[in-house]
Amino acid sequence: MTTFSLRGNLVDVPARRIVPAQINIVDGRIVDIVELKGGVDGYLLPGFVDAHVHVESSMLLPSEFARLAVTHGTVATVSDPHEIANVLGATGVEFMIANGKQVPFKFFFGVPSCVPATVFETAGARITADQVGTLLDREDVWYLSEVMDFPGVLTGADEVMKKIAHARRLGKPIDGHAPGLRCKDAARYAAAGISTDHECVTLDEALDKLACGMHIQIREGSAAKNFDALHPLLSSHPDRVMFCTDDKHPDGLVAGHINDLCARAVAAGHDLFNVLRAACTNTVAHYQLPVGQLRVGDPADFIVVDDLVGFRVKRTYINGALLAENGETLIESVSTKRLNNFHCDPRRPLDFRTPTKGASAW
Ligand SMILES: [Zn+2]
Repeated sequence: MTTFSLRGNLVDVPARRIVPAQINIVDGRIVDIVELKGGVDGYLLPGFVDAHVHVESSMLLPSEFARLAVTHGTVATVSDPHEIANVLGATGVEFMIANGKQVPFKFFFGVPSCVPATVFETAGARITADQVGTLLDREDVWYLSEVMDFPGVLTGADEVMKKIAHARRLGKPIDGHAPGLRCKDAARYAAAGISTDHECVTLDEALDKLACGMHIQIREGSAAKNFDALHPLLSSHPDRVMFCTDDKHPDGLVAGHINDLCARAVAAGHDLFNVLRAACTNTVAHYQLPVGQLRVGDPADFIVVDDLVGFRVKRTYINGALLAENGETLIESVSTKRLNNFHCDPRRPLDFRTPTKGASAW
């Protein structure tokens, strides 16, 4: 039995209060929280969760992504293996899940709904509605990933509707991806059972989708940056927004993650607890993830920060294990079987010679 205790100012997000406390942890779970009179340093927060990220965009294996993410206080991601699926199909999805399980990080993978993304793409693989159904049946597959084929949803196209029906049968969440979809069309898209969107670039578009009952994932990654446009939602709709990055390139992931968005949101004047709902708790509630929220009985997934301004992460714990300390990861690298690679013959400059006819213009 592993037992330890930790003291700090516990940030109780649902109760919207901060209280000096000692948390007692046994075998990876919080068994007791004892309120204290004071005399403690630092803050204990639930860990950060990225509500939508393609791990492949970091150009790292899930296991290596995890090693970096924990240094910023991220304990979990909701991840769509869409990019690898376009190369390797269901085998790629299974590979991501298996590799993610080799490290003590909480990955929650979905099944890509649109591989290839459009009929005009020359993808390396295809995932059929039947394959989507088989993958969704797995306990370690959590949701149907971004339904990019919104024209298909609006016209009731067979293949995409079958995929959606599989998820609805299992009661698993269905993620959206509907850039620019507004008003009645957005309402019809949502009515198909699609409950999130991370593609909003204006406040009006987000408000439209919120009015349709959707949850909005405020995206700020290496590619798209929508924080400035959407952060007012943190105060107007604190129960319906989450933070996500969608794509995080390696240089960006080295610099920071969801912790940076917390610092920016607090600097923009938003209420701390509303910010932490978007960073920690709303995603866990929406996808019903087994990620601890600093309550008695929860898995001991939490972080320690110095202050609630910069959110510099001192320590990250997952299931009671210390996995990062002062910017250093404590997760070991793992070896993984390689699924594919490129085979190229060496090229010489002359190989790129292009024959021309007539006189040179030079
Ligand atoms: Zn995406």
